[in-house]
Amino acid sequence: MTATTIFPPLHIPATIAAGPGPGNTDARVLAAYAGAGIADHMHADVLRGMVEAKGMLRQVWGTKNVHTFGVAGTGWSGLDVMFSAVMPGDSVVVFNNGTFSGIDGLTVRMKAATAEELAAAPFDPKPASVTVIDVPHGQSVTAEIAQAALARHKPKWAVMAHWETGSGRINDLRGFSDACVRHGVMGLVDAVSSLGVADFRIDEYPGVQGWASCPQKGICCLPLTYAPVSFTDRYIAELRKTGTRTFVHNPVLEARHWGILDGKDVEKGTYHRTHSAYAVAAFHEALRITLQQGLANRARAYARHEAALREAVEAMGCTVTSNMTSLVVLNLPGELAGREMELVQNCRAQDFGIWPTLSAPVQVRIGILNLLNAAAITDIVTRFGQAIRDLGGAFDQTAVDAVLDRHFAGALAAE
Ligand SMILES: *Cc1c(COP(=O)(O)O)cnc(C)c1O
Repeated sequence: MTATTIFPPLHIPATIAAGPGPGNTDARVLAAYAGAGIADHMHADVLRGMVEAKGMLRQVWGTKNVHTFGVAGTGWSGLDVMFSAVMPGDSVVVFNNGTFSGIDGLTVRMKAATAEELAAAPFDPKPASVTVIDVPHGQSVTAEIAQAALARHKPKWAVMAHWETGSGRINDLRGFSDACVRHGVMGLVDAVSSLGVADFRIDEYPGVQGWASCPQKGICCLPLTYAPVSFTDRYIAELRKTGTRTFVHNPVLEARHWGILDGKDVEKGTYHRTHSAYAVAAFHEALRITLQQGLANRARAYARHEAALREAVEAMGCTVTSNMTSLVVLNLPGELAGREMELVQNCRAQDFGIWPTLSAPVQVRIGILNLLNAAAITDIVTRFGQAIRDLGGAFDQTAVDAVLDRHFAGALAAE
């Protein structure tokens, strides 16, 4: 007889998700998720929910692109769909300024590699047709960098992360789009960290033909739901010409279940794969929340709360090197330099979920996704200050309090 091992039920605690992502899933999203009945993926209300979500997603992205929908899974699932148009031998320029644009580059190198190039280094191919432009950690991809690289290489595709979450840097989307237009290049943008946080409309960036985001960051919808994507007619025309070697992550085929057929909206979707009523309900509610709050309001709230957190950690002697509004990436005060991992691990052991950087150099990352209130920021600042003291660091608490008072005077009481 073989022994059967049954573990006790899995309990996962509630933590303060103060990292770069996942963000704090909204309670309304969780209620929608748990409240959906069991219904199959061709039930009329599930299909209607998908068609409505498609419509709301176009408003959130700011686009008339018909091929706008959600890809089941995480950010990388949406990115994989977007990069599916990149075929072996395609010329591509990829801008790399951190962990995530680095992985975007790896994905593109895998797709653009010829069979021989892939077999030569299956997990890290170096195809001759792909040029990676490395921008140092902590710096942004500028209009000048994008312009110079596209002028020189004139590739078919160019790839950039809008907000590089690894180093907390905003890259120049306007400059990237303009350079793509000028050189006839098709731009592909990783907007995983910016959608739902920044106030932008993708139709205002005509150089970009494909966009991909995620459920877990600005859209506040972690329960494995949908990674938003959007493609222009030009992208779809190119894909129809070359084809792509994937059924599930094929933008044209995936779109069918969302009621997009032959480039047009149809009343209801047709089978592509099994969608979850729970996921559809949760995603639908997350989009409703985003539109009810308004992107402009949300973007302003992020900027305000990030400024308070930034100034508070600077008052503790930290140096902030990021410029995203959902995330602060910092160096510890000089006397604690080199102890970043230790500090992060201490915090995580107390369910205060901050993060280190995932590629060199080691820095601390503190995020505020869906933590847009004075009480949450004050709590983060208090816990982070304690973590510095626990390592033997010292700072002037009255200076930190003064920052919080200046930003939040009256707000705490009002909350
Ligand atoms: C988080 C992130 C990803 C990966 O998203 P997952 O949801 O973990 O798959 C990709 N790109 C950027 C810029 C990100 O911030």
